[in-house]
Amino acid sequence: DRAKASRMRHLRYLEGQDEQHQRRLMLVRDLQHAAAQGQLKLVYQPQIDTKSGEINGFEALMRWHHPTLGLVSPDEFIGLAEQSGNIALLTRWLIDSVGRQMAEWEARGRMLRISINLSAQDVIDPALPDRLESVMHHYRLSPARLCLEVTESAIIQDPVLAHRTLEKLRCRGFRIAVDDFGTGYSSLSQIRSLPIEELKIDKSFIFGLDDSADDRTIVRSTIELGHNLGLEIVAEGVESSVSRQLLNELGCDYLQGYFISRPMAVEDVPDWIEQYDSQKSTGKGSDKG
Ligand code: C2E
Ligand code: MG
Ligand code: MG
Ligand code: MG
Repeated sequence: DRAKASRMRHLRYLEGQDEQHQRRLMLVRDLQHAAAQGQLKLVYQPQIDTKSGEINGFEALMRWHHPTLGLVSPDEFIGLAEQSGNIALLTRWLIDSVGRQMAEWEARGRMLRISINLSAQDVIDPALPDRLESVMHHYRLSPARLCLEVTESAIIQDPVLAHRTLEKLRCRGFRIAVDDFGTGYSSLSQIRSLPIEELKIDKSFIFGLDDSADDRTIVRSTIELGHNLGLEIVAEGVESSVSRQLLNELGCDYLQGYFISRPMAVEDVPDWIEQYDSQKSTGKGSDKG
């Protein structure tokens, strides 16, 4: 009968909640050892210059291969790491791994620009600038080759402290980008006072470029205003040749997205670069994806 069915549904709902809860507890517990046990990996997604098509650099994105749960998405574990106070551990691993990787590429003659993502707590960590600087120094890398991506919402949580850390980082020569721009509550006028050089327009606006006049307007005016403030503009989430074409017409400086390439394993990066460059030089373009 109806009452019984409804009780069953509620029970299943509670069980579902419980499973979610169990999973979160497990992830938080295991996060603490993920780096030490070699379960973290970085994948790299290329970013190209819109006009020339040249490779500008790569964004390093974290992956967690959990021993029993399999691949866990950063959208799930980064938030948990922040809430449970474990993010500094992950960021330390990130900075170290990226430094080592850049040095290895450089030793083989590849000077690549790399972007990494910082979380809200990293941005207010007073030890971060020194840590970043010492890793770059250790591997003899120029800080200008490392771009630090920070979301608007991370800055908004503690604007004064965040501003201070970013100023320090900027002074030491790191490049700073605002990530997921358009999804937070800040406006370009608030962002103007920050020591940044790059805006990454959130992919949700880029997805809509083909068929939403509103999204086109938002993207167009972000690019215009950003340029007027002396910022370079990156579009993330470029999935089609149509959006690539539109972004080219709108004057977007750099493109990143599945249309160019999905994030790839570190060992695939050299081959990808070679293939991409040879396609470009034979005039076939990169439009094959
Ligand atoms: P994000 O920094 O905005 O990175 C872009 C995300 O969009 C990545 O998801 C990337 O794989 C995805 N993406 C890129 N191009 C396309 C496209 O054309 N279509 C679609 N559908 N997606 C695209 P991912 O790797 O799952 O990372 C999600 C978020 O997790 C990142 O967003 C970033 O905020 C965070 N994250 C990743 N790695 C790290 C890290 O090392 N540290 C911190 N603090 N956060 C990280
Ligand atoms: Mg990012
Ligand atoms: Mg983003
Ligand atoms: Mg994002």
